[in-house]
Amino acid sequence: MQKKLAIGWFTFTCCEDSSILFVELLNEHYFEWKKLIEFRHCKMLKSINQFGPFDVAFVEGAISSDKERKKLEKIKHISKYLVAIGECACTGFPSAQRNNFSAELQKEIKPLIKKFHLLEKVHPLESFVKVDERVPGCPMDPNVFLKTLDNCLKKFKVI
Ligand code: SF4
Repeated sequence: MQKKLAIGWFTFTCCEDSSILFVELLNEHYFEWKKLIEFRHCKMLKSINQFGPFDVAFVEGAISSDKERKKLEKIKHISKYLVAIGECACTGFPSAQRNNFSAELQKEIKPLIKKFHLLEKVHPLESFVKVDERVPGCPMDPNVFLKTLDNCLKKFKVI
């Protein structure tokens, strides 16, 4: 029986453009990936999802709250390999732009940070977990993503 790569796709604080690109890539790769990949958790594709275990977790977006930090740590715990998708996940920016607000603006947004239980600063994934591989770009570079996915399929001996 064909071995499949068990993957999870998650998004945190971001605009989800890399998720849209991923869905666009399915136009060309769906039938090929269907044979090689088990989409164990991918909310944009299915309504019933399984929370791990994963060979690879693809994580898009920055971390802006304690709730997100805890969820990211859980994802890391149940995944053998973690890939940061897009600049927000890799560097925090542009989602982290409030980190660089002037003192005056910081004061202005303080009540919102408190109201929505947000962290003082917005963080890249690696502030909280070890990131194994990165797909940079805003949104992600699709060619780097395809190369990374290929690496993962080889790493986990699916191909
Ligand atoms: S990296 Fe760019 S495209 Fe991706 S989530 Fe952040 S802002 Fe959106």
